[in-house]
Amino acid sequence: MRIIDEIFERSPTLSFEFFPPRDDIGFWDLYRTIESLKPSSPSYVSVTYGAGGSTRKKTLELVARIKRDSGIEPLAHLTCVEHTRAEIGDIVDDLKNHRVENILCLRGDPPEGQGRFTARPDGFANARELAGFIRDRHPSLCLGAACHPETHPEAASPEADLDNLKRKVDAGVNFLITQLFFGNDDFYRFRDRCAQAGVFVPIIAGIMPVLSAKQIKRFTNMCGAAIPPDLLTKIEAVEDDTDAVRHVGVLHATEQCLDLIENDVAGLHFYTLNRSTATRAIFQQIKSRLAVKTGR
Ligand code: FAD
Repeated sequence: MRIIDEIFERSPTLSFEFFPPRDDIGFWDLYRTIESLKPSSPSYVSVTYGAGGSTRKKTLELVARIKRDSGIEPLAHLTCVEHTRAEIGDIVDDLKNHRVENILCLRGDPPEGQGRFTARPDGFANARELAGFIRDRHPSLCLGAACHPETHPEAASPEADLDNLKRKVDAGVNFLITQLFFGNDDFYRFRDRCAQAGVFVPIIAGIMPVLSAKQIKRFTNMCGAAIPPDLLTKIEAVEDDTDAVRHVGVLHATEQCLDLIENDVAGLHFYTLNRSTATRAIFQQIKSRLAVKTGR
């Protein structure tokens, strides 16, 4: 199933992101997590690609297994970092041989310890080049890409970031998934700016339920997303109490999702960090509204 077809037939889509675990025990835990999320009938699940191609084998293995055994459509993340064009060609052919139909084309974050992304001379400089290469090689694949409602931290300006996004979409991208954000107004403003700039592909909202104060500060520092002051105050008031932080996080994400559904978002994509409790709690609160919109 091509994700773009699902978006047109039944939006908002519902999807979950996982990363490939390090060892076999982690894999078994993850399969259990995926099973526990199945009752929410996800449109697809995505599997991340580790910094510097470090999870190449594990990402491909997990994606192939999800496709073969789970009955859920996988979306394979793929990054440019440290790969030659020939290697990327092999990976994409491999995915195609496993009947994977959806790839998320990303530049990628540099490996641990390397401050900035450096393109290989025989590789790709950005996600646009990667998407264009895959589009030419396998025209039937459905391609997604990342977008950044609060602007990518390395972009010269919001306008430059949007120009780059337009070029990326024009290279053959079918849909976009946002970086995590906590203020829906940032998302709506960004969606309007995309439309004004001629970026008309569906934009799926990336949702991360806050599970820990320390962790969310680290993530937002890395990706340039802001934590709204009222949310930050609520988190900091209970930051030593894991259950209370989780409660605040689930409540905020639930309100975000309900508002996004009302405002015709193309999809909700949950950054699960391989856990299911918070995502399942949110799903319980939004499922009736999702059902009304999608008929699912
Ligand atoms: P690009 O679209 O290439 O943009 C990167 C920067 O370069 C931007 O500032 C852009 O404005 C600028 N730029 C682009 N083209 C040009 C140009 N021609 N000239 C000048 N500037 C240009 N990382 C991983 O390592 N593995 C993952 O699995 C992964 N999954 C992700 C999933 C989602 C949904 C999202 C939102 C992010 C994910 N990331 C992942 C993180 C992502 O790799 C980083 O955010 C990365 O820093 C940028 O990736 P991009 O694909 O948006 O890059």
